[in-house]
Amino acid sequence: MQAYRLFAWKQPPRLVEMPTPEPGPGQVLVKVAGNGICQSDLHLMHDWESSPPHLQIRLPMTIGHEIGGWIEASGPGVAGLEPGRPCVVTLAGCGHCRFCAEGWNNYCAASGPQPGMGMDGGLAEYVLAPAAGIVPIDKLEPWRAAPLTDAGLTAYHAIGRVANRLVPGGSVLVIGVGGLGHMAVMILKAVSPVSVIALDRDPRALELAARLGADHLVTAGDRDREAVLAAAGGRPVDAVLDFVGAGNTIALAAETVGPLSKIAIVGRGSGAFALADRSLPYGAEIITTFGGSRRELMELVELAEAGKISPQLIPYPLSRAAAAFADLKQGRVSGRAVVMPDKIYQALAGSGPDNSPGGNP
Ligand SMILES: [Zn+2]
Ligand SMILES: [Zn+2]
Repeated sequence: MQAYRLFAWKQPPRLVEMPTPEPGPGQVLVKVAGNGICQSDLHLMHDWESSPPHLQIRLPMTIGHEIGGWIEASGPGVAGLEPGRPCVVTLAGCGHCRFCAEGWNNYCAASGPQPGMGMDGGLAEYVLAPAAGIVPIDKLEPWRAAPLTDAGLTAYHAIGRVANRLVPGGSVLVIGVGGLGHMAVMILKAVSPVSVIALDRDPRALELAARLGADHLVTAGDRDREAVLAAAGGRPVDAVLDFVGAGNTIALAAETVGPLSKIAIVGRGSGAFALADRSLPYGAEIITTFGGSRRELMELVELAEAGKISPQLIPYPLSRAAAAFADLKQGRVSGRAVVMPDKIYQALAGSGPDNSPGGNP
């Protein structure tokens, strides 16, 4: 099979032929329909000089951790996942710790290597996944479901963490309308009555936010605080979802929220915030998030299968995976890029105009 593999840190990955793997005990072999690509892949490919200790990455490794496809085969000890069943792949927790017991497998401290982060990932024709990470789907095409597992789920979980502030008459500020932020705008409009203010510096990102139902658009610039407060009707906002996480975006969040508000920092922009008396209104909270739970992914799949959200996806063939990453790095992807095995891409490209494939040769 073909696979897009990282052979050495800080070297570009290469598309190579390799044997299709066999599922071992507790594993499932998934035939890949599509794999969404992510800023974390760019960090892995360009910034890391060795494996973070908890991921135990040994190179070479196939990239890709946002996977949709079909069950191809199950390994020993795996039952109930019949071949041909469409599915997505999510983080498999250890199943034994307190966080897993509470249903928060995304905060499991012992989850170990996962596809694309320690195990070979989804930029390939087939991928192995722990059976505990498989979530069957029904109506959605699996390539369309792939970005729900990371971009969608991370946004959905962050929204859940601020949900008690999303009340009628309230407003939420979404900072950064990229792969995750565009999901957030759509999900907020689908599940809450709150007014959505989208902020980005890229006019195309704001156009996308408008199409997805954002109530107010703010072009990031010099007077962001005033623009956000004006969009909120002259009142502070009730919640902020910061998909950038840089020093200036966290500062903007802190100066636009009101008492008892919640700021969820999702982006890994490494921004700093100095907590001091009155640096936040009384009762305001700043929280971090990571991914989302298996239960939340099931809810999000339901939302998509009901037609309540329809993420903007740009398909690329696996043979042009490098172009997909280059486009993401240069800020040329509006929505989420999904890389698909060439045969599946060709079938999609021949199936009609509304799939508008990216990655033209
Ligand atoms: Zn990711
Ligand atoms: Zn656990």
